Amino acid sequence: MSSPVWHPFTQHGLGEPIPQIASASGAWLSCDDGSRLLDCISSWWVITHGHCEPRIAAAIAEQAATLDQVIFAGYTHPQAEALARSLVALAPAGLDHVFFSDSGSTAVEVALKMALGHWHNRGEARHRILVLEHGYHGDTIGTMSVGARGVFNRAYEPLLFDVQTVPFPVAGQEKASLDALESFCRAADKPAAFIVEPLVLGAGGMLFYPPEVLRAFSEICAQHDVLFIVDEVMTGWGRTGTLFACEQARVEPDILCLAKGLTGGSVPLAATLASAAIFESHRSMDRAAMFFHSSSFTANPVCCAAANANLAIWQEEDVPGRISALGHALDEGLASLAGHRRLHDARRIGAIAAIDILVPDGGYLSDVALRLRAYALANGLLLRPLGNTIYLMPPYCTTRAEIAQAFAVIADAVDTLPD
Ligand SMILES: *Cc1c(COP(=O)(O)O)cnc(C)c1O
Repeated sequence: MSSPVWHPFTQHGLGEPIPQIASASGAWLSCDDGSRLLDCISSWWVITHGHCEPRIAAAIAEQAATLDQVIFAGYTHPQAEALARSLVALAPAGLDHVFFSDSGSTAVEVALKMALGHWHNRGEARHRILVLEHGYHGDTIGTMSVGARGVFNRAYEPLLFDVQTVPFPVAGQEKASLDALESFCRAADKPAAFIVEPLVLGAGGMLFYPPEVLRAFSEICAQHDVLFIVDEVMTGWGRTGTLFACEQARVEPDILCLAKGLTGGSVPLAATLASAAIFESHRSMDRAAMFFHSSSFTANPVCCAAANANLAIWQEEDVPGRISALGHALDEGLASLAGHRRLHDARRIGAIAAIDILVPDGGYLSDVALRLRAYALANGLLLRPLGNTIYLMPPYCTTRAEIAQAFAVIADAVDTLPD
């Protein structure tokens, strides 16, 4: 009997096999037929330290037996209080308030609503959001609106709200990007906010840009009193080599979005951090000015306990050392592909490595990605190329030997592509 499950980003009509994963440990997934897969993409960018990290698993078990869930409107609990304090201490200066939700998309929706509510409560009519070309911020209607338009959202396009798009800062053409931002900010009809993924545009194809540009973005926004929203849903928790990508540019955004690796990737939790000014514009004696947002599982205690365990690991173990060793292994892997006639633009930041395949017809739906995915699966790798971009974003526990093995399979996979 066929399964009733409808999978995300899956064309069921193609009839691709859908492996059944029974368990996981470290960088490995075990399938129910006994085979194993090296999780080269951290199960869609969420697992940081490794699967079933013992300290996080223990914290989840203990909390599940103590306090499983409680309404968070008007009530609180120790795990959320401790987590919020720790996040404020770790985040860039000026982010003094923490709003919890449960996915990257909701963290961004909350950020957008906070920004719009801020101007509304101050009596300024500002509704325009500035976005960065090729950006991705989630799959809800609001987050699709601030992300790149394409085949993913064509069906919904008439309902997506209008934004103004700042060109991606292509190397050598950064000025065009900064000038566009400046002119959008100078407009008489002032924008409410500018939202970016810092240093790496993930779903847009692992596109990197330098800290100086991120810093210039934030300076332009500050000069023109436009809120600067940084979406660290993917880049947070060490992915770019530092705890947050913002640190590399010494940027202090007005709003910061976290999810994915917040719990080490074990259970879903998100946080939107906001400045005192944004919190204050919602705080008054007027109930109509409160922040009207919640979800059933806001600040779920089990998820907060997992996040606190993740923070303890960051505090007590040499996570940056592991990321740096993994970075070297990724560099060696990319170097092993150097000179390959079909590969170009090898790049790496922190624990993310990417390389592009030369194909006549790139783009997300290019069947190169499908072929590579199938080859990788048959050879023990979980890989999910983005169109013609192959990338590795492994858990930090992945060893040098495992990375070398992954790159050997990738080289073979690319060789098997038809000309
Ligand atoms: C994955 C991602 C999101 C969406 O997160 P979900 O938890 O999948 O909703 C938002 N922003 C960025 C930058 C992401 O990479």
